[in-house]
Amino acid sequence: MANQNFSAMGNSLHFETELVHGGTLRSQFNETSEALFLTQGHVYDSAEQCEKRFVGEDPGYIYARFSNPTVGMFEKRIAMLEGAEAARATATGMAAVTAALMGLVRAGDHVVAARALFGSCRYVVEEHLPRYGVESTLVDGTDLAAWQAAIRPNTKVFFLESPSNPTLEVIDIEAVAKIAKAAGAKLVVDNVFATPLWQKPLALGADCVTYSATKHIDGQGRCLGGVILASEEFINTYVHTLLRQTGPAMSPFNAWVLLKGLETLSLRIERQTRTAALLADWLAEEAKVTKLIFPGRKDHPQAEIIARQMGGPSTLITLEIKGGKAGAYRFLNALRIFRISNNLGDAKSLAVHPATTTHQRFAPEVRESMGVSEGLVRLSIGLEHPGDLKADLAAALAAV
Ligand SMILES: *Cc1c(COP(=O)(O)O)cnc(C)c1O
Repeated sequence: MANQNFSAMGNSLHFETELVHGGTLRSQFNETSEALFLTQGHVYDSAEQCEKRFVGEDPGYIYARFSNPTVGMFEKRIAMLEGAEAARATATGMAAVTAALMGLVRAGDHVVAARALFGSCRYVVEEHLPRYGVESTLVDGTDLAAWQAAIRPNTKVFFLESPSNPTLEVIDIEAVAKIAKAAGAKLVVDNVFATPLWQKPLALGADCVTYSATKHIDGQGRCLGGVILASEEFINTYVHTLLRQTGPAMSPFNAWVLLKGLETLSLRIERQTRTAALLADWLAEEAKVTKLIFPGRKDHPQAEIIARQMGGPSTLITLEIKGGKAGAYRFLNALRIFRISNNLGDAKSLAVHPATTTHQRFAPEVRESMGVSEGLVRLSIGLEHPGDLKADLAAALAAV
């Protein structure tokens, strides 16, 4: 393979350039677009070469559960964007979170996590890990004293999501990373809502970052994917063998789709964020909107942290509609361009009612403590014309 790795030019290239060229590996045919290596395995020139490959003396691919050229390009490209030494792609975002957390702990250990977590992440921390003898404590992630107070001698992991789903709560990653380090714990950050464009947790002191590539990285609602990013040492020590042996591998086809998704990531995120900011400022003044949360506004509770730690706000807006659940349903059912869907980061604008979907399994008082009220609606802003989206939202508010 004629390995024309553009990144050999050094680390001086800008984000947008890396998105298009980073990690590209060309075959003997010198194709323009990244090739899709839809193969389970690879053949060897001789039994001797095969033996060397297995013991790691001959560099090259063995089996797609371990690695694949297309998956490898995706890993390389996203590692460059994140400023990470290493990346491992997984079948889904949840596979990435589960492997990162399970790789760090064993029976008798303890995990501290911010309570405002994506539902499945919270399941892993609250219900799955304890089955294997790993205890967990959930804290108000915005309260630094709570992180400190939750530490036990056996605390091995801190885990958080920022901005959180669906209340877009922002946690001071640098401060939490310092507390984790002093306690000898590793900090894992689920960076889905921020995207690689607006927040770099590794630069803020986190040990590991996870993404659901299903969201903004695909950005067109086609396939599932996930990725774990960290130092070489972290990956080799905690996740490399676990991933190889347990098998949550990314499909080469999905890696190819996601590579193409990365090429347009900054264009899409910048545009979607700009539209979200316009709509948030307008919605905040509407009478039937009783509360609005957007990380780009001065009235966001953590506006000062956002200014320090994020390069841009979000493609998501969370708002509370007058009239509780009935009001929220009237609003959702009147939307025509926004479609009702639990996905996010898509080219299509999407809306969801968290209390009856993503956060349905929680008791009402737990939901309330997470800020998920009955009137809450989460909007994921897409690539449509802002004027059309505004008109759609205005008509839906009029129906409330
Ligand atoms: C969607 C999501 C996940 C899970 O990703 P999948 O690709 O659906 O498995 C994890 N964390 C956050 C914050 C998410 O939004």
